[in-house]
Amino acid sequence: MALNLVMLGPPGAGKGTQAKTLAAARGIPHISTGEMLREAVAAGTDIGLRAKAVMEKGQLVSDEIIVGVVRERLAKADARGGFLLDGFPRTVPQANGLDAILARFGLTLDRVVAIEVSEETVISRNTGRWVCPKDGTVYQVKTAPPKRAGLCDLDGTPLVQRPDDQEPQIRQRLREYHQKTDPLKDHYRGKGLLLEVDGSQAADQVYASIVSALRSAAGGR
Ligand code: AMP
Repeated sequence: MALNLVMLGPPGAGKGTQAKTLAAARGIPHISTGEMLREAVAAGTDIGLRAKAVMEKGQLVSDEIIVGVVRERLAKADARGGFLLDGFPRTVPQANGLDAILARFGLTLDRVVAIEVSEETVISRNTGRWVCPKDGTVYQVKTAPPKRAGLCDLDGTPLVQRPDDQEPQIRQRLREYHQKTDPLKDHYRGKGLLLEVDGSQAADQVYASIVSALRSAAGGR
């Protein structure tokens, strides 16, 4: 059965890692708006040029731009068999924009998974995150370090930090999250779609909690 999912969580909640694993296990596309924007910035497209400075400050790209990006992505045929949206919606207007997009395709959301972590965890996870610029592999200094310091395990490429993973930018991203994204939890709780998962555990335990929450929710319907 097609599963239409949203994954919510502050920066550093492990959202991207969990979303990738879950989407692969379900055979549905993993749609990360952060990744799509970083690709647009790297490719120097019009959207990338408009988004770059805003992203580097840790602020949110405008609802209008991001809803347009998601509309185009969900129009692709592979999204008809289910999808996992990671990092979208991040505001209530974006959630309304998503409803309008889905309505056009005769689709509805099945579940919204919110990964919960404390503020200290967010800061330490983000400042310790290093990424391979070539293949996107993510490392964590403390919990998942590369085998050779500073180099990607897969191809030896020197790892980099995201420009928005410095502490002032992380604090700004957290402020944005609390002000604009937190209200989405009530929004989706009210619709009976919200599943909350403790993201402070190790990644494989978080994954097991997500799978079990989805299973109980499906059984409870
Ligand atoms: P992420 O990889 O999800 O942490 O996103 C990185 C950055 O991309 C965010 O800090 C925002 O600047 C931008 N971004 C990603 N998704 C959205 C969204 N749904 N709305 C606004 N900005 C976004």
